Amino acid sequence: MIALLLFAALSTPPEFTLPAGVTPRKHTIELRIDPAAETFSGFAKIDVTLADGQSEIWLNGRDLTITEAWVEVAGKRIAATTELAGGEFIGVTPEKPIGRGNATIALRYTAPLSATAVAGPNRKKVGDDWYVFTTFTPTDARRAFPCFDEPRFKTVWEISIRVPLGQRAFSNSPELLAKSGSNTLVQFAPTQLMSAEVVAFAVGPFDVWDGGKAGAKSTPVRVITPKGEVDRAKEAALATQQVLPRLEKYTGIPYPWEKLDHVALPQGAFGAVENPGLITYQAAGLLVPPAQPARVRSLQAHEIGHQWFGNLVTQADWTDVWLSEGFATWISAKMMDEEQPADRRRLSAIVARERIMQADEGPKTHPVRWEMHNRMELDSVYNQFPYQKGAAILLMLEAWIGEDRFQKALHQYLVDHRLGNATTHDLEAELPVQATAVMESMLNSTGVPVITATCDGETLLLDRIGPGPLPVCMKTPSGTSCVRTEQPRTQVTGNTCDWVYPNADGAGYYRIAWKDAQLDTMAASLDKLNGAERLTLVYDLRAQHSQHLILKKLAADSQPEIAKAAQETPK
Ligand SMILES: [Zn+2]
Repeated sequence: MIALLLFAALSTPPEFTLPAGVTPRKHTIELRIDPAAETFSGFAKIDVTLADGQSEIWLNGRDLTITEAWVEVAGKRIAATTELAGGEFIGVTPEKPIGRGNATIALRYTAPLSATAVAGPNRKKVGDDWYVFTTFTPTDARRAFPCFDEPRFKTVWEISIRVPLGQRAFSNSPELLAKSGSNTLVQFAPTQLMSAEVVAFAVGPFDVWDGGKAGAKSTPVRVITPKGEVDRAKEAALATQQVLPRLEKYTGIPYPWEKLDHVALPQGAFGAVENPGLITYQAAGLLVPPAQPARVRSLQAHEIGHQWFGNLVTQADWTDVWLSEGFATWISAKMMDEEQPADRRRLSAIVARERIMQADEGPKTHPVRWEMHNRMELDSVYNQFPYQKGAAILLMLEAWIGEDRFQKALHQYLVDHRLGNATTHDLEAELPVQATAVMESMLNSTGVPVITATCDGETLLLDRIGPGPLPVCMKTPSGTSCVRTEQPRTQVTGNTCDWVYPNADGAGYYRIAWKDAQLDTMAASLDKLNGAERLTLVYDLRAQHSQHLILKKLAADSQPEIAKAAQETPK
């Protein structure tokens, strides 16, 4: 009885994240999948390094039935028992405690293959055929195999899948061999270091559109569709030919993986998931008609953008999801701007920013960064703030720091954290300005700052209500300059004050509270403003319910977004 109590005391299951002291190095996963069946089976071998001796090792697993377990140390097999806890964890207890150093955890299991789920491994029927897909982000890889399922754990993945004859299988890396006997064994090359949440596989009688080779490394591109739908794949393949080289040029780093497959998911499912080498999309988003090529380029620019921001460099934990989603959202708009004339630059980003600003001003606001303590909080990790406000903050940082210097800093950030993890502080450390206080105010608090600009002789006074410090960039007849508004009031000297637009390039995440006299001046100088500035001006006027006559001029703007916003009836 005493021994039993002692044993129980050792096995406290984790509550949310896995305990320190066990570092996975490699997951070897063998799967046997028949898409027509309601279950599948697998065998996971996970190489780990133990910082200390362990009597029990915790890892992630959900809805898995473990049929056999052991631990290998120095080539010797030690029998083990397993315990499922909290719906999210598997405790593996070897017959005798194991010392520090390397070990391998081996688990055989079976798991359900749901026809209704959209997360985890799931199957869908298209016509007469069943297909298997996966959506693991953020924490559903654990439904497919026992694993260390947190972004900080980046390991090599060596995956093989045994499928019925006539079926194909795809995963993140190229297939090394497909050996057929009574069934087909598809063995995939070991991956580079990646997190569990972006592991992916697909099984079924797919068709494949060869999209040729793209980018600096001649990366092979394919579009994978359910049988008979491959005719719709052409635009998606062409989009990659255009988008991939732009991203390689901007980041200064060639596409990080060996292949680039786009998979069309038939129905339901997440919008899109950026798994390295095997990006999944809702079919409607990927297989666009020839008349809508920009739509799929924009979507791919986001997902392929993640190959650097999110996959090559991964947020250290879920608090910093914006390092992935904010960047992918921002860089997609930036890459798409390359197709636009100068007066249309940033317009799509500012339209999106206006929506998040309105949300940020309302009751459902949410900080971009916040710490998660349990599974329920994690379920809302992919809310719109890390995406849209994250992207808007990057737009502001870029304008403040300067496009070239910002690009160089991001390149260095990617190089320094390549195949590893990063935090917001790691990003700040790469920036050529002291940005910590600005980033903290913007990322950790809610609300939209409001700036009032007042002229006092030769001095411009900037009064700020709301979060700060904040960079404010001003356009004047003598050019563009930026200041950091530390205090609620900042004085800018040496300004003639006869004409100032206090949000140059419309890049700042704040509103200007305009006065009528300033608007009278602006109305006579509208031709000095670019499209981004005119659109931002309209949105600011809308937010303050202005009825100033300048809106009449803006309602006739040559850019449809600006004219439309100016014509809308004030709320
Ligand atoms: Zn994304």
